[in-house]
This record gives sequence, C-alpha cells and structure tokens, in this order.
Amino acid sequence: MIKKENIKLQTPKGMRDLIGEEYYRYQGFFEKASEVAIYYGFQPIETPILESESLFYHSIGAHTDIIEKELYALRTKGGDRLALRPEGTVPIMRAYFEHGLQSQPQPIMLYYHGPFFRHDNPQKGRYREFRQFGLEVMGSGKSITDALVIRLVSTILTEAGLPDLAIEINSIGDRDCRPIWRRELVNYYRKHAKDICADCRERLKDNPLRLLDCKNPKCQPIKAEAPSVISYLCVPCKQHFKEVLECLEAMKITYTINNNLVRGLDYYSRTVFEVSLPATDTEPGLALAGGGRYDYLARALGGKKPLPAVGAAIGADRVLATPGVANLLPRLVKKPKVFFIQLGSEAKMRSLSVIEILRHARIPVAHSLSKDSLSTQLGIAEKTNIPYAMILGQKEVIDGTVIVRDMRTRSQDVVTLDDLADYLKSLKG
Ligand code: AMP
Repeated sequence: MIKKENIKLQTPKGMRDLIGEEYYRYQGFFEKASEVAIYYGFQPIETPILESESLFYHSIGAHTDIIEKELYALRTKGGDRLALRPEGTVPIMRAYFEHGLQSQPQPIMLYYHGPFFRHDNPQKGRYREFRQFGLEVMGSGKSITDALVIRLVSTILTEAGLPDLAIEINSIGDRDCRPIWRRELVNYYRKHAKDICADCRERLKDNPLRLLDCKNPKCQPIKAEAPSVISYLCVPCKQHFKEVLECLEAMKITYTINNNLVRGLDYYSRTVFEVSLPATDTEPGLALAGGGRYDYLARALGGKKPLPAVGAAIGADRVLATPGVANLLPRLVKKPKVFFIQLGSEAKMRSLSVIEILRHARIPVAHSLSKDSLSTQLGIAEKTNIPYAMILGQKEVIDGTVIVRDMRTRSQDVVTLDDLADYLKSLKG
C-alpha cells in the first residue's frame, strides 16, 4: 500500500509537463516537421510507448549505454517484460514486419514523433523523457535515400529557424570491412591500454567503436593516432559514401567528415551523421539530431531477407531550447478575437449554443461561463487583452441579438445572432 503522505505533487526526475505556450511550441514544431516530411512523400506512423523488452536487446546492442544503463524496463502485473521505448527505429522496424510492409512497393518512408525514455542523468539538454521527430526509409540501400534523410533533417531545422548548424558525417563500413577496422582498432588500443581511461578500458572489451566517442583529455592523443575507418572501407562502401557526399554537395548542404563519429548503437552501418549546434568557448557542441544507415537491423530482429534502411531523429527538446529558434505555432491555435460575456440564467443557458454557432463559423471565443457578474467578466476580458467583448443579457436573448463591444474604444454595436459570425469576421483583430 502506498501511503497518502508519500504522494508527491511533482513529475518524476528528468520529466516535464508541457502546458500552454510551451505545449503549442512543441505542437507547432511537430506540425512543421510533419508537413516537410509529407511533401517529400513520407507517411505517418505511431507505435506504442511500451514494447517488449527483448526487442531492444538484440538490435540496439547489449553493451550500449541505452541497454546497460538507460532502459526503463518493467514487469507488468501479468508477468510480461516490457520497456519504455528508448528510440523509434527499432519499434518501427518491428511494425514494418508485423504489418507485412515488405509486400508494398519499397522503400517504405515513415515519419513519427513522440516521447522517448532513457534513464540517464538529467542535465542541460538531457532529459529522461524527451521528444523526437524521426524519419525512416526502409527497403533501399541507395545513397540517394541517405541524402534524402539528411536533406530533410537539414530542411526541418532550417524551417525551425536554425539554418547554420554543423553537419558531421562518416561511414563506418559494412559487415565486410568493418570487422577488419574494428580488429585493428582493438589491437591498437590494447597496446595503449595502460594510458586510457577506465571507461575506455571497458569499451575496449564490450563496444570498441565507442572508444572514438571518448572526451577524456587523457585519451585524446591516443584517439588522434587510432586507425581511421576511412582507410579500411571496402570498395562498395567507399563508393556509397562518395555518392552520399556528392548528393549533399549537389544540394549545397555543407558538411564535415568526422572519422571519429560512430554513434554507439550496434545497428548502424555505412553512413552515420549528426547535426549539432557549433561549440562555443564555454559550451561543447550539442547534438540536435542524428541518424544513419541500419542495413543489418532487420536481420538482427529475425528478418529472413536483408532490408537496407536509413533514418534519423531530431531532438525536439533541444531544438526548442536553442536561442533563435522560430516560434512555430500550430495551425489549430487561433488567438480569440472576442470574449463572450453572459448575464442571467437565460443567457447562460443559451451561451453554449452561441459558441457552437461561432465554432461552425471557425471563430474561437474566450469566456468565463462559470462567472455571473458583468464587472467580473469584463475584468477578466480586460486582462486577456482580447480586443472585443460580446455581451448576451436577458434582453438580447429575447431579441435574438448580442452586444459587441470594442474593448479599446468602448463603442458598442447590437448585432443579430444571424449576422454575428459575419460581423465578427469583419472586425479588425
Ligand atoms: P539518438 O536517438 O540518441 O540518436 O538521438 C537523436 C537526438 O535526440 C539527439 O541528437 C538529441 O537531440 C535528442 N536526444 C537524445 N537523447 C536525449 C535526451 N536524453 N534528452 C533530450 N534529448 C535527447
């Protein structure tokens, strides 16, 4: 039994409520991003917040931070082991197979947005519940699809008012060439095992590509001399990478090749990329989006045939916390032009029908139907800065009219209910 005294009226650590303007900012961003994706031929998908825990183990990789430290795993009352989704790609791949999307013309292009969960240490730009907008192109290995995904991420961020971001890109090879590079990397780091940090010694055992993610100053000289993936790429991987870069150049998308970019998850192959805020003297560059190719994920999930695919996710919380980000308001949100005031029980009873007439005419209204007195309602109307008030009293109910008052000039007009919508539309906001 949980005692009443233990109820805490606060969100769990690293999680937030989105209310009012902030909610609209998220909604506006997701609407804009969805619109861009739809114009490029993507379809929407929503998957459950909970998935079977096992889905993530063999896909993201047992020795990744997400699985080792950050997965919210739980056992249900029925005994199922489920996990709060830490990312979107694996659930979407699950959905691809579950709904037999391989029988449709390929590639399948999907976009999604929603909350994701990682039990990390909350800090600036890092939450335990965060929101992503993501894109997946499944069923093509062609370099144009990598370029398409990068283009979309760049376009969405530009539309969000952030055109000058640093795009870093790398290729981490395929199952032919990556093992050779990986072996060389391990051999090299083993020789320097005494000089690297404790975390890197762990990475060397479990997830050697992550050695290249290390930010510890002690490891930097060793990292600088480490075998670079670019020298180990096989001919098809080199060709693929070259084509992706050519596509980006043709689209005038500026990028930097970063051969240390590996993006820790097991499922990546060939192209990986990240879009970040440039580092300043005081702050390191913060990643706003990242993605890459995941040609072997389908097989890792038990798929019979190879399914090349590429995708990306944009961190909405970080985008919306970036100074200078555009205030993208959702389409649905309209600032009411008129505040509805009702006086007397007859008017109160009629008020919802009047609001319904205005809803049909697509005119949003503010009101405080729970209040009775004129002065209270006028006081609220004044505080909201809404330019017009619409007053329905006993007499107006009988006459089938309302009084429309200009809150700035205090001039008033009597308008019939039949003419009300057109009259309100004609008023300047
Ligand atoms: P990832 O799924 O790790 O590739 O992350 C893609 C993007 O999601 C990152 O570039 C971040 O912008 C964002 N992101 C990832 N983890 C978090 C987090 N814990 N809190 C806030 N944003 C995050």
